[in-house]
Amino acid sequence: MAHDYQPLQPNHLDLEDKGFSTLAVHAGEDRQKFGNSLTDPIFCTSTYTFANTQAVIDFVEQNQQREEYGRYGNPGEKFVEQKLAALEGGEEGLLFASGMAAIVGLVMAKLSAGDEVIFFDECYHRSREFCVKQLSRFGVVTKQVKSCDYDAMAAAITPDTKLLISESPTNPHMSVVDLERFAELGREFGVETVIDATLASPYNLQPIAAGVDYVLHSATKYLGGHNDLLAGVLIGSHEQLADVRKLRGIMGAVCSPHNAYLLSRGLKTFELRMQRHNENGLAVAEFLNNHPRVDHVYYPGLASHPQHEVAKRQMRGFGGLVTFTIKDADWRETANVVDGVKIPRIGPSLGGPESLIEQPLVMSYLSCTPEERASFGIHDNMIRLSCGLENAEDLIDDLRRALEEPVIAAGQVEDSEPSEQRVEAAVHGGVSGRTLPANTTVAISSIPR
Ligand code: PLP
Repeated sequence: MAHDYQPLQPNHLDLEDKGFSTLAVHAGEDRQKFGNSLTDPIFCTSTYTFANTQAVIDFVEQNQQREEYGRYGNPGEKFVEQKLAALEGGEEGLLFASGMAAIVGLVMAKLSAGDEVIFFDECYHRSREFCVKQLSRFGVVTKQVKSCDYDAMAAAITPDTKLLISESPTNPHMSVVDLERFAELGREFGVETVIDATLASPYNLQPIAAGVDYVLHSATKYLGGHNDLLAGVLIGSHEQLADVRKLRGIMGAVCSPHNAYLLSRGLKTFELRMQRHNENGLAVAEFLNNHPRVDHVYYPGLASHPQHEVAKRQMRGFGGLVTFTIKDADWRETANVVDGVKIPRIGPSLGGPESLIEQPLVMSYLSCTPEERASFGIHDNMIRLSCGLENAEDLIDDLRRALEEPVIAAGQVEDSEPSEQRVEAAVHGGVSGRTLPANTTVAISSIPR
């Protein structure tokens, strides 16, 4: 499709038979661009003008493909949407201000009062939280079944079910959903299917090819790839995304021109980055799996992973996220490992050049009761590591030292006594949970941050 800002020369490249990096670099881009620039211009404008009244009438009456107002989209965003659709093997991409804006846009567009949505229960907790706590106020029923339990999902489907949603791999447990089974379930019951493939990225997983209706990404992670933007994307068919696109324009959840540019820029090196993330993730997982202080490693690339065969069949690589538990460690001893590493920074998120490490208990689940954490499979001795683009041997040396020579930073214990008490209280049940929404069939009484 020609862009409405009139490219000097459109892109005539046939994308059909091109490799992943060729698509990442060239898809969606005109050959000769405005101002003869090699890179895409950033259109920093909130509105778009018309030459005269007739041009406005033509736009309105003929539904012309051009920009009108920044809330409905911007040219830079459209280049990226086409690039992402090409990478995902889907018909159309729809870019949002964040991953959460994308999922909210999708469920708001597709679900009405009386409809049901069913999640695999390891799906991103904020997505479930939105449906459980917000959509319930509008009469939408949210059900949750155990991740990868396809029979339980089939049993939960009723004539009112409109969406089946899962993440794959899941976070932080790295469970892998068999996409063909999941998509088949949707087809059998006439229900649309959604996969949040953020932790895999389109380099490692192609849910559309497996028959899934919609793929969702927090483009904040691997797609942007530099820890410097927030964005989200939905991939699906033009027809299926039409109502979501309309709603996005009303919600105002559009990606800013600057972030769309950063995303497009980050995508140029996507394949190279993913190859390094995959190499680092596997090397670190194998190291941890053989370390005597490590109890369990959650990584689909390991033969011990319960869905390793499914992962091998449907994934090109297994990504940079590795979750592990420290043998016989309490929360403080685990925190000492987190505090002991010198390369990964402590923080949420994943998919950028800088490795990030966190203890889920402290980062996301502190306000839950121990029973709730147990029901989520979150252990006090659990660590989540997002391997960045550093050299694997440096990450491994760093982890080895932190595991074998745990050190407590000077002044840490004295300075942090109130917070130590707070974590102790949380670990031993001193922090109360929140209340259960009425229409949740499988309880998530407290959804963490
Ligand atoms: N999906 C997954 C799997 C995520 O990890 C996240 C964020 O952490 C989101 C969706 C939401 O994305 P964003 O933070 O871009 O809104």
